[in-house]
Amino acid sequence: MAAQISTGTSELRDITKMERIGAHSHIRGLGLDDRLEPRGNSQGMVGQGKARKAAGMILKMVQEGRIAGRAILFAGPPSTGKTAIALGMAQNLGADVPFTMIAASEVFSLSMSKTEALTQAIRRSIGVRIREETELIEGEVVEIQIDRSLTGATKTGKLTIKTTDMETVYDLGNKMIDALSKEKVLAGDVVAIDKTTGKISKLGRSFARSRDYDAMGADTKFVQCPEGEIQKRKEIVHTISLHEIDVINSRTQGFLALFAGDTGEIKPELRDQINTKVAEWREEGKAEIIPGVLFIDEVHMLDIECFSFLNRALESELSPLVIMASNRGMSRIRGTTFRSPHGLPVDLLDRVLIVSTKPYEEEDIQQIIQIRCEEEDVTLSTDALAVLTSMATQTTLRYALNLISCAQIIARKRKVSEVEVEDLRRAYTYFMDEKRSVQWLKEQQGSLVF
Ligand code: ATP
Repeated sequence: MAAQISTGTSELRDITKMERIGAHSHIRGLGLDDRLEPRGNSQGMVGQGKARKAAGMILKMVQEGRIAGRAILFAGPPSTGKTAIALGMAQNLGADVPFTMIAASEVFSLSMSKTEALTQAIRRSIGVRIREETELIEGEVVEIQIDRSLTGATKTGKLTIKTTDMETVYDLGNKMIDALSKEKVLAGDVVAIDKTTGKISKLGRSFARSRDYDAMGADTKFVQCPEGEIQKRKEIVHTISLHEIDVINSRTQGFLALFAGDTGEIKPELRDQINTKVAEWREEGKAEIIPGVLFIDEVHMLDIECFSFLNRALESELSPLVIMASNRGMSRIRGTTFRSPHGLPVDLLDRVLIVSTKPYEEEDIQQIIQIRCEEEDVTLSTDALAVLTSMATQTTLRYALNLISCAQIIARKRKVSEVEVEDLRRAYTYFMDEKRSVQWLKEQQGSLVF
């Protein structure tokens, strides 16, 4: 592939991508309207309006390419939606804008240096959109371009697409031109061909392709009619992260590297070569850089070396937007004796935009619980919903959300489909929240040996 540069370095052990998908599977976006105002309950998001709006503004800047090399910090108490908002942002980014999520502690738990783990995470978050021109290959589904001069008359044509064999595709193209020339289709119009019925319908040039494509189903083939002839060549655009390019180019000597006891790090020289190559592609107009987002959860777990590294990395031309989250107030900067807000050194804090998340109102908590119940296909009785909401305010939202599925299992054992207060009560006795667990340990001190 075009992204391959011949070198041959090390076998890699990728940093593990830790995605807490389950707990956030109800989040489908930030739930903002066109003016970036938060909707009441939308895309799985409830409350936390200011933080969501701020997140939406940041997204806008990312999409306009105006925020690379900056950093954002979501700061707020536990369970106030910092991760949820970051994931909502990820969903609202374009499909080819990379979003990487790591927990700061992962940086220490891997068989590679901290800075290598951070470098990999950073390079994962930078996309390279590559344009390639290729010959059409037999069996491919293609878009057929039609000459403007062939359009203009009336009537609807019919065509059945049974194969994507190249000969047939060209033949089809010609037949389609015949068919279309009987209908008033102009350059720039989009037409749809149903593969099964062969019916051609004109959708007009204002047809919003990406959105409406899906709605028409996989059996419909779309053809745009711009100026020019049926083309034998086509342009492929694909986005790959810098990290993926690194990996592809370090795998050639996989086994040898293993025998040599390689640490799994990528050599800086290889990265330099790749950066040079990508810069060349950019010069030639073959590639563009798409700065994505790197989300670092529990950022206070990083140490001073990591922070200095991050600070430097943010200066680089090839830098993603770094979003951090912390639930700590004043705390010690790891690796030093200094204390600082959110455990971040002041020079990094200085360049960071801080977005705070606030504890939820009872009403918001209740709605989030309801959303989770729908997501997990659990029915709570009205009383149980009230009790669980009150539990969430006294413990944490996350604890209450965890109890939903536990209580459902208990209810199922009773052979009822609706979770009642009694099921929650029992789940509450089986599983402790943090406060009770600490209290219990205190009471046991002396009788327990650790
Ligand atoms: P911590 O500081 O402990 O990491 P956090 O601030 O990252 O916590 P989350 O993990 O995002 O909190 O939230 C806890 C749970 O509540 C998750 O399941 C999350 O999806 C859900 N949640 C939080 N806020 C919202 C919200 N505004 N709308 C919908 N769901 C939410």
